[in-house]
Amino acid sequence: MDKADLVLNTVLNVDNDECWPWEGAKTNGGYPRLVVRGRHMLAHRLAYIIRFGRINPNLELGHICHNEWCWNPNHVRPITHEGNMAEAPSKVMTHCTKGHLLEGNVYAWIGKDGNMHRQCRTCHNERSRLNYSKKVLSSIG
Ligand SMILES: [Zn+2]
Ligand SMILES: [Zn+2]
Repeated sequence: MDKADLVLNTVLNVDNDECWPWEGAKTNGGYPRLVVRGRHMLAHRLAYIIRFGRINPNLELGHICHNEWCWNPNHVRPITHEGNMAEAPSKVMTHCTKGHLLEGNVYAWIGKDGNMHRQCRTCHNERSRLNYSKKVLSSIG
C-alpha cells in the first residue's frame, strides 16, 4: 500500500492512545517522513491534518509523547517554532525541580500563547488538589 494511503486509512479507522511507530523513511531528526504527490511531508503532520484539519503553516507539531517517530495525530499539538525549540532541553531533564521522577509522569498542555508546556504530573496534581481544597474551604466560608 502507498504510504499516503496507509496514513489516510489508519487515521480514518484507528483512534487509540498508543504510539504509532513509523515504518518508513525518517528525517535527520528522526521524524516520520513520506512523499505525497511528489512532495515530502511529515507523517504526523499529514495524520493531524486528516484528523483535525488544516494547521497554520507557521506552526510546527510538537509530540506530547516525546517519541519523534510516532505519528498518532492524538499525540501531536500545533506549537510555535520557538515553543518547539524551548521544549528541547526538557527532553534531557529526568527530574522536576522538586525531585520527582519525570519519566512517564509529565502533564502537557497548550498555553494561551500557543506554546506547549510541560509540568511534572505529581506537582501538577498537588497544585490542583491544593486549588480544589482552597475552593472547597472558601465555599464553606
Ligand atoms: Zn506517541
Ligand atoms: Zn514534581
